Amino acid sequence: MTTDSIKTDIVIVGGGIAGLWLANRLQQQGYNCLILEKGSLGGGQTVKSQGIIHGGTKYTLTGTLTKSAEAISQMPSRWRQCLAGEGEIDLTSVKVLSQHHYMWSTQGLGSKLTTFFASKALRGRVNKLSKKEYPTVFQNPAFKGDLYQLDEVVLDVPTVIQALVKPVQQSTVQLTDNAQIDWQVNEQGTLNKFIINDQNHQLAISAQHFVLTAGEGTQDILNQLNFSTPQMQLRPLHMAMIKHPHPHPIYAHCIGAQALPKMTITSHPTPDGQWVWYLGGAIAENGLDKSTEEQIATAKQQIQQLLPWVDFSQAQWATFRVNRAEPKQSSLARPDAAYCQTQNNVSVCWPTKLALAPDLADQIVEQLKTLSIQPNTTPAVLPDWLNSPTVSAPFWQEYFD
Ligand code: FAD
Repeated sequence: MTTDSIKTDIVIVGGGIAGLWLANRLQQQGYNCLILEKGSLGGGQTVKSQGIIHGGTKYTLTGTLTKSAEAISQMPSRWRQCLAGEGEIDLTSVKVLSQHHYMWSTQGLGSKLTTFFASKALRGRVNKLSKKEYPTVFQNPAFKGDLYQLDEVVLDVPTVIQALVKPVQQSTVQLTDNAQIDWQVNEQGTLNKFIINDQNHQLAISAQHFVLTAGEGTQDILNQLNFSTPQMQLRPLHMAMIKHPHPHPIYAHCIGAQALPKMTITSHPTPDGQWVWYLGGAIAENGLDKSTEEQIATAKQQIQQLLPWVDFSQAQWATFRVNRAEPKQSSLARPDAAYCQTQNNVSVCWPTKLALAPDLADQIVEQLKTLSIQPNTTPAVLPDWLNSPTVSAPFWQEYFD
């Protein structure tokens, strides 16, 4: 048995968008960080997300501008600055799938929505398009309804993950399936260190501060730490996917009479030049009790009704299940903003949206200032039995020929 011990400034547990964005920010400020990941970097909810950098428009559909819409409204411009190389993180290598997400209404809702979107709260963030401005996929005489352009960019998430991993890769640590973690919390609830026991090796890691960004895995860690709060809630989804040769991608919410979009469709490229369309929104939330076959049948029926001019005769269909991990709410309502709660030297975080990763990192940076935590370690030399995790690949490709 070999035993090592190292010290770093900040330990981040979980290398999804939250952990990776934060590690980049902290590294720029001179902190030494370690990011522990038990799967692949970005391979949790992050790579399965639709890549929409929400500005909150979707959350205004109840007719009032909610707190959630306020918190998120700054995010599109923060991300756009990063994409242009002028922001807090260099995202110039990220592939932009669409400069805008769109929203269309089924007939009957059009005039109500137009009045609402023209309201002061949303002016400049939602533009109603004339027919000649429609993205190609909607330029068909069979399209009926109104189309709005949102100030929300859509990103190819695997390239976001790559861009965020590159500057911090040296600080990433793979936790293998064999690794047992022994968290050493003192009576006051301060986490002194933790020990990774991995077959013939043992490594004790101490840090000034610990940040839990393990998504769905965070509740287990809280249980191991004996922290009764915060608690996590899961919002399960049953997403449908279609791979097909239709040449035009689509990035849009279809709005029905409810606050939740009837369907949110995004398009993701495949190496053979086709697209995989992801179907989220109400169809994914309402499809939990459906088998794969039943969910595919629902997806076929709904999408053909919404986009009757698109030929799906060559399409391959698939579904996948995934949970959104969020702080527990009194109801299963959507949380309002990125969430961070600090107890002693442990911050527990759920960004609740990919788009809100910058907001979450701001909260931690502020927290470290409040706690007077300054960079004060030298870069840790990791024992050579530890490896770096792999970087998540576009996961939708596994499902299709
Ligand atoms: P995750 O990405 O889940 O990362 C957590 C990481 O921690 C994982 O890599 C996991 O392997 C690791 N981990 C878990 N347990 C441990 C442990 N014990 N030790 C070490 N590592 C551990 N948001 C948007 O803004 N726009 C969208 O378009 C959008 N679409 C979405 C579509 C879907 C289908 C889903 C599910 C979510 C979507 N979201 C979207 C939400 C967004 O994806 C999540 O809020 C965000 O990715 C959460 O990031 P995270 O880093 O907290 O979690």
